[in-house]
Amino acid sequence: MRVSGGRLREPKAEEFVEGPGAPEIPCAHRHRVDRHARWCTPAYRQDFSRRRGGPAGPNSRSASSFRRTLERPWRRSLRRKYRALLLDVYGTLVHEDDDILRPICEQVAELGGVEAGAVAHEWWRLFREATVAAYGDAFRLQRDLSQDTLAETMRLFGVHGDAVALCREQVNFWRFPPIFEDTPPFLEEVRVPVCIVSNIDRHDLESAMAHHGMVVQAVVTSEDARAYKPRPEPFARALSALGLRPEDVLHVGDSPSADVGGAGALGIDTAWINRSGRRPPEGCRPTITVSSLRELLLRLRG
Ligand SMILES: [Mg+2]
Repeated sequence: MRVSGGRLREPKAEEFVEGPGAPEIPCAHRHRVDRHARWCTPAYRQDFSRRRGGPAGPNSRSASSFRRTLERPWRRSLRRKYRALLLDVYGTLVHEDDDILRPICEQVAELGGVEAGAVAHEWWRLFREATVAAYGDAFRLQRDLSQDTLAETMRLFGVHGDAVALCREQVNFWRFPPIFEDTPPFLEEVRVPVCIVSNIDRHDLESAMAHHGMVVQAVVTSEDARAYKPRPEPFARALSALGLRPEDVLHVGDSPSADVGGAGALGIDTAWINRSGRRPPEGCRPTITVSSLRELLLRLRG
């Protein structure tokens, strides 16, 4: 990453030069030259390859991954590139339910005499497995999956209790989530059609959207598609609703697997909203990464 105008940015492909005879770098500031020089050293390139998990070398898999990284289209202006946006909701437009899940896990942990982290880990594992299996005729609503997997988690830790009652706050949260402050101006100022693509039950999403007065051109929930992201059905349904091709749209979301992985697998460009500055997990390769919708709006405007 390089500092440019107070922001971090990836170096341009043509700036990756190495060895003696490399052209002089036309940088105005010394610290920028230093950063550039560090990127250009063979040692740094090898370290980059090693961290990507493969042997270093010009023809190695990690080296080709490195080249692909340089060739990503996000260096071009995004302006006029996309005819519509697909938008995730929880964690992207409104807050995730993390603050609600914590006390639920703490209650179960106290009754079971275990750490809350262990409860959270097990519940999440079971919930993910359940969403992966729930598609087509086997589809089940998210609220049912959440309650059932919490009940199973409680059984695993020998805890007796009412999982449905414990999940009530979570469902309430889904219906009335707090909104990120940059969401209203983003939705107001974005100049292309928007289609919501969310892993949520339709009834809960409609409540959340009405609560915040959100108006978009199309909405696709997992309930509509009978499948959860990262499966292709929700994205395919969104494209069909818009009458567009994968290359016409940008999918925006906070989940490296459900959003970046799911949309990317269909050839859809992706914008990863990384509001908390997380390190991208291995294999997460969004077209662009932004820290907020405000930054995304600036990038879309070019
Ligand atoms: Mg999300």
